[in-house]
Amino acid sequence: MIYLDNSATTSTAPEVIERMEIIGREVYANPSSVHRPGQRARVALEDARDSIAAGLGAESREIVFTSGGTEANNHALKGYALTLFAEHGRWPAIITSSSEHHAILHPADFLARLGAPLISVDPDGEGRILPEALQRALEQAPRSPAPLVSVMHANNETGTINPIAELSAVAHAAGAVFHTDAVQSYGKIEWRAATLGADMISISAHKIHGPKGIGILYINKETEVEPLMHGGGQERNRRGGTESLQLAAGFAEASRLVLADIETTAERMASLTSLLRELLGEIDGVRFVTPIDGALPNIVNVTFEDAGRLDGEGLIVGMDIRGVAVSNGSACTSGSIQPSHVLSAIGLPPAQAKAAVRFSLSRYTTSSEIEQAVAALIDVLQVMRGG
Ligand code: PLP
Repeated sequence: MIYLDNSATTSTAPEVIERMEIIGREVYANPSSVHRPGQRARVALEDARDSIAAGLGAESREIVFTSGGTEANNHALKGYALTLFAEHGRWPAIITSSSEHHAILHPADFLARLGAPLISVDPDGEGRILPEALQRALEQAPRSPAPLVSVMHANNETGTINPIAELSAVAHAAGAVFHTDAVQSYGKIEWRAATLGADMISISAHKIHGPKGIGILYINKETEVEPLMHGGGQERNRRGGTESLQLAAGFAEASRLVLADIETTAERMASLTSLLRELLGEIDGVRFVTPIDGALPNIVNVTFEDAGRLDGEGLIVGMDIRGVAVSNGSACTSGSIQPSHVLSAIGLPPAQAKAAVRFSLSRYTTSSEIEQAVAALIDVLQVMRGG
């Protein structure tokens, strides 16, 4: 099977599996226990935290382990809103974009049902949130209590990168707090917490060849956020519950691996996506959804001018039958025949949104896999177009 669905999830790196096996076998005590096995577990947990923090250019105390990107996003939005509600008796405005992952859109909708003013910013035709669009949204939002802006770093369907440093500066100038979902950009392009300028950042391990079920929320030391899980005082009182040391160690190993050669991997992936673009460009009626500039090096999303004649689900199934795993939207919406909200937000007609095919590469993808994947797509289209 040729696996080109790495934006949905990645294979677990052998080094990560090995590290998790060792920790699982040897370091099983509760990191909160006072005895020596507990102390050893605490040291291993804090080593994992230190190494992830160093990769982000953050302080260890700014890292809260979560169960993944979804929890990190929920923690940022609900935790912030609850902190301000507890303080002021009023909900802060939530400003987000219509092209966010459901792990942002749904908690934002939930807060709106509780009474938080919710403002949505639309992306431009390339899927990008422009600083002036955010500025207009901030002008409509109640300023007190301080609003929360959440805009993703890179989109999971199109790969489009948002100008986060500029967006966070616009948000801060208006007195708002800024969160970014960096689940897709982490390990794909170089960034540090300080260069993004965000107060909170979500990342997840399973998109970088780490284990599923763990991520982090970076919370700048000046930002206060109520926990989602009240319980023991773990994670400096920000997430109750015995920590999963095995997953944390696996995440740290995956981060170490991916950050060690991020520049060369990004260059290699970019040359593979340019080969992919070149081969796809020869297909009749192809339309590139992913912009050529300002996108992640590992995502190419395409659709077709004659999408009305094509069956979107059939495209993915046809590729699968030919041994190629690709996706037509975020994994959370796959299996559904609704056009993706992201592709609709950037103005694609429903038929073209339904017929989109997303190729997402990993550090292990080869040029021969790219060639075989395009050959499979050409074959599926030929059958579907009746030729
Ligand atoms: N945010 C984005 C942009 C994603 O692509 C994903 C994963 O699909 C998530 C959040 C959710 O992350 P997790 O699967 O770790 O909960």
